[in-house]
Amino acid sequence: VVRFANEAAVQQFPDTRPGDLLTLTFRSPQLSDALREAADGTPGLVQYRERGDSARILKVEIDTVRRPGHKSGFLLVTLFDVSEQMALAKMRADFVANASHELRTPLTSLTGFVETLLGPARDDPEASENFLKIMLGQAERMRRLIDDLLSLSRLEMRAHHQPTDIIDIVPVLRLVCEALAPVARENGIVINADLPEQPLRVPGDADELTQVFENLIENGLKYGKSGGKLDIDVHRRTAAGLPVVAIAVRDYGPGIAEEHLPRLTERFYRVNVASSREKGGTGLGLAIVKHILNRHRAEMKITSKLGVGSTFSVIFDELVTAI
Ligand code: ADP
Repeated sequence: VVRFANEAAVQQFPDTRPGDLLTLTFRSPQLSDALREAADGTPGLVQYRERGDSARILKVEIDTVRRPGHKSGFLLVTLFDVSEQMALAKMRADFVANASHELRTPLTSLTGFVETLLGPARDDPEASENFLKIMLGQAERMRRLIDDLLSLSRLEMRAHHQPTDIIDIVPVLRLVCEALAPVARENGIVINADLPEQPLRVPGDADELTQVFENLIENGLKYGKSGGKLDIDVHRRTAAGLPVVAIAVRDYGPGIAEEHLPRLTERFYRVNVASSREKGGTGLGLAIVKHILNRHRAEMKITSKLGVGSTFSVIFDELVTAI
């Protein structure tokens, strides 16, 4: 029978009131067993998932508390909500599994070609050259993956440090457009960048923001190829009374079905794995973008319509005071 519950317990488990049976509201056979064993003198620890919508994972520690000179005692039941910890652990495990899988595929292919070059293709220079080209492609894919994984891990380490520099975002955008001009040409796309004359100051790290727009514009060029053009618009406006800068990258490609939109920034999430691979994608680009923007306290909005195209917008707080 519950005799006492502290403030946190009352808040977290409002149905369990002093005077009630604990097992009335905590309907877990494991917990009942552990309570019985603790009452018999063997205190223990159980972990279980709550039933119902909330589905919290609880770790329950049971200790015996004896009052000197008294025969009967109390049980101290301490409940820890470990749901977040468990979800995080699962995410880490999934991430390692995904990363290993992504690396293993090109590695398997490399090994296969090396074996062929040492064996059947040994005296066939034409086939050998062909295979070496494919091997180079696979090795480059592994390098891109490792670069992206390292970027992510560096960003994670700095996740709680906001950038302290103040930069003009206009030249960043101009440089990214220039750097990607060859990719645009290759894909037959015209970039229409409507960049303002005056500087637009935002709190940020120039290298990281370059990476953000490189990713978004390159995606627009790769996946939006069929649209033939890509627009980059920069707007200043106010949001909740504060000045913001909104930068939109709009392509006229095939678009993305609505159900994928909330998941695009997940690591290794791709609408079409084969199409991403064929375009040299790692599935980590938008995860990196999201990480950088979180660190900058900037927001990303994705809107898309099948058959019409996609718009990736980034919204920064603008610093209007002179630096
Ligand atoms: P990837 O390395 O595969 O390009 P990203 O994280 O950059 O990885 O993007 C994740 C997925 O989102 C891509 O595989 C693609 O399916 C989809 N995607 C991203 N940008 C666009 C776009 N502009 N148009 C259509 N699909 C896109």
